[in-house]
Amino acid sequence: MTRRGAIPAVLRRALASPGGTCYRHCGRPIRTRTVKSPLPGIWTVRACPSGVVSVSTYAEWGTRDPTRAVQRMLRRWSVPPSLVRARDLRAATRHGPELGPAAERFLARARPRRNVHVVYWRVYPFQARDGSERRLFVCYRRKHPTPVFFSQDPKGAMGRCPACAERSTELLGRGSR
Ligand SMILES: [Zn+2]
Ligand SMILES: [Zn+2]
Repeated sequence: MTRRGAIPAVLRRALASPGGTCYRHCGRPIRTRTVKSPLPGIWTVRACPSGVVSVSTYAEWGTRDPTRAVQRMLRRWSVPPSLVRARDLRAATRHGPELGPAAERFLARARPRRNVHVVYWRVYPFQARDGSERRLFVCYRRKHPTPVFFSQDPKGAMGRCPACAERSTELLGRGSR
């Protein structure tokens, strides 16, 4: 038995993302990273080496639409949480044929019938109040227990993760006391 909602290996392989390059930023190859969460399915975050996110995906094999759970989790990971807007989340049910023959056979045999639900979070480049461009970034530094999503001017200095910045101010504050 697989954990409820978990994605078996045959489906995981079928869902693997293609390559691609960073759109309208650096043109470098996108890296796909799997992120752990308390939810049973799998998260993948696709971002360029500087951390500009192209898409985050959550896939679950189950009977319900996981969009609300996905939104709550992303809000916990984002600074500020309002970065996660319902309209940037798109849910899709992936069916056997589009996942390839191995996954299709597997889904047809599985009882009870369950669907592969995929939720995509895609934030397109947008303008800040001052008119400068903003892109969605992710920081995976090991000192965070989770990924941290934030928005930033892509032309500015990289690595301005608010969680990392907060930590270093804390450390500086402690040092000066
Ligand atoms: Zn890039
Ligand atoms: Zn960080």
